[in-house]
Amino acid sequence: MGLAPVWRLRKGARGAEVPPVPSRSTQSAAGPAAAATESMVADPREEQILRMDWAALKAKVAGCTDCGLRATCKQTVFGVGDERAAWMLVGEAPGAEEDRLGEPFVGQAGKLLDNMLAAIGLKRGENVYVANVLKCRPPGNRNPGPDEVARCSPYLVRQIELIRPKLVVAMGRFAAQTLLNSDATIASLRGSVHRYAGVPLVVTYHPAYLLRSLPDKAKAWADLRFAVKTMQGLS
Ligand code: URA
Repeated sequence: MGLAPVWRLRKGARGAEVPPVPSRSTQSAAGPAAAATESMVADPREEQILRMDWAALKAKVAGCTDCGLRATCKQTVFGVGDERAAWMLVGEAPGAEEDRLGEPFVGQAGKLLDNMLAAIGLKRGENVYVANVLKCRPPGNRNPGPDEVARCSPYLVRQIELIRPKLVVAMGRFAAQTLLNSDATIASLRGSVHRYAGVPLVVTYHPAYLLRSLPDKAKAWADLRFAVKTMQGLS
């Protein structure tokens, strides 16, 4: 379900001289040896998205009907905050309130997120950018489907490329597994500095999960302190 297959081998492209789009999301691809033997080209839709500036990307997301979710949600939820932020927080998908207001994390989980940010001296919009893996609300807040993640995740890839944050905080299973192209659990991913396309990435629980599981709030607090320590080590 990860973001990794940004590059696909186009049928008949072997040996064709089509240079790959220089994308940070390709850094974990097979490497120079493979590149030398196979000509990898991006899916044309993804290639186009990965070249967009902010204005084009926002317009593309706003008009996107590339998966079924747009038919059932009220509006797309692009992301919010400082477009030059050092901190980027990534969640799963808009819920009902986010769908209504067009901004990520504005419901109960968002209030908790704002409190968590305040606890480490941060505020949404000030050196912080918040986005989701999916830009449209899945009906009934069901889990994102793999096809929906595959269609929508290039937008997140491009947001990360444009922002170039110093640190990404992946909140919850979908964000972590998507960005790390992994099936590992949150429990096993917490407490380490991972990399997404070269950008340091730490993992924590999703605020909505924390609302249901109070004992894990202490672990999330430890994750935030770990994130701050990681950020301090980068500066
Ligand atoms: N949960 C998320 O993952 N994102 C939101 O924007 C709201 C709730």
